[in-house]
Amino acid sequence: MGPLYPDDRLPTAREAARRAGVDALLMTPGADLRYLTGYNAHATERLTCLVLPAEGDPLLVVPVLERAMVDASPAGALDLDVVGWPETDDPYAVVAAHLRSALGRSPDRVAVGNRTWAEQALRLRGALPGAELTLAGSVLRELRMVKSPAEIEALRRAGQAIDRVHARMGEWLRVGRSEREVGRDIAAAILTEGHVSADFTIVGSGPNGASPHHELSDRVVQAGDVVVVDIGGTTAEGYCSDNTRTYVCGGRTPAEVADYYAVLLAAQRASTAAVRPGVTPHEVDAAARDVITAGGYGEFFIHRTGHGIGLEGHEEPYIVAGNTEPLQAGMAFSIEPGIYLPGRHGARIEDIVVCAATGADPLNVVGRDLVVLPG
Ligand code: ZN
Ligand code: ZN
Repeated sequence: MGPLYPDDRLPTAREAARRAGVDALLMTPGADLRYLTGYNAHATERLTCLVLPAEGDPLLVVPVLERAMVDASPAGALDLDVVGWPETDDPYAVVAAHLRSALGRSPDRVAVGNRTWAEQALRLRGALPGAELTLAGSVLRELRMVKSPAEIEALRRAGQAIDRVHARMGEWLRVGRSEREVGRDIAAAILTEGHVSADFTIVGSGPNGASPHHELSDRVVQAGDVVVVDIGGTTAEGYCSDNTRTYVCGGRTPAEVADYYAVLLAAQRASTAAVRPGVTPHEVDAAARDVITAGGYGEFFIHRTGHGIGLEGHEEPYIVAGNTEPLQAGMAFSIEPGIYLPGRHGARIEDIVVCAATGADPLNVVGRDLVVLPG
């Protein structure tokens, strides 16, 4: 297995840029920059920008005060020149000058990161008059969508870390505690269990469970509540976790919930079983949706079945109706059908899986049954 941040990504991305007819990739802090260089920079008003021209040498332009951080990161070991710009210099002019000298001309078309701040994208455009600005996402997506063996193992470690948090849920999720109190404890545990950031904690109790992106509220958990807990973080290696389990607190499972949970579990299994190279995300989504529709709950499954995951919590491929780009071995994504009865309660089961040659390789293995907690 190669390193998590191998040194061949800059030349590979340069090739992809050439094929796409782009003169340069201009990457500011974020997942794309980290993917290409291993440098995990913070986005601030001071410009950090990887200039990757289609011809000539790449250059990493950073604030001079952050230069030491680059050298300490995997980027320090790359064949990559780094220039630290002093506080009073214009870094956009540095980017433009390097680009013109590398290409031997002014660029016609440059690509900026999809998540680059608009402020910086517009200033880059201002420094490169005449150059058309496009998005780098369409150039880098092919690279980032298919994970290397080292990335898959990093995602597996993230999955195991979040599984350990779910396995401890009975320590915090109890009748009489508010979602916010429970969420605070979960967030602390996400950090204790192998992450460097707790990215989101959804504790949807009772009717809040019917709102898929509900986060936390002051609602106090009642006996017999169904509670959707969807949590995730980022590990020191840079890879994300994301896992949902549904709990019943301090009481018997309502019969109706037991009924639709059985449908949901069958849907999650069917969708996972549909995963293999060559199958489309559309078909994986339909595998879950068909089971839920046949069970009579189709109108209550109101979101796509899943999303890709890696250096970002949501990335391509999206497991959604209409996405007919076939899955490839090495793609990683969630399978997370849900059933939501507005104003009453809901349930979701979410695992991250990798599309392997033989089918889905689940990175989350904590039990998928409805977990009844004593309260
Ligand atoms: Zn989730
Ligand atoms: Zn998810």
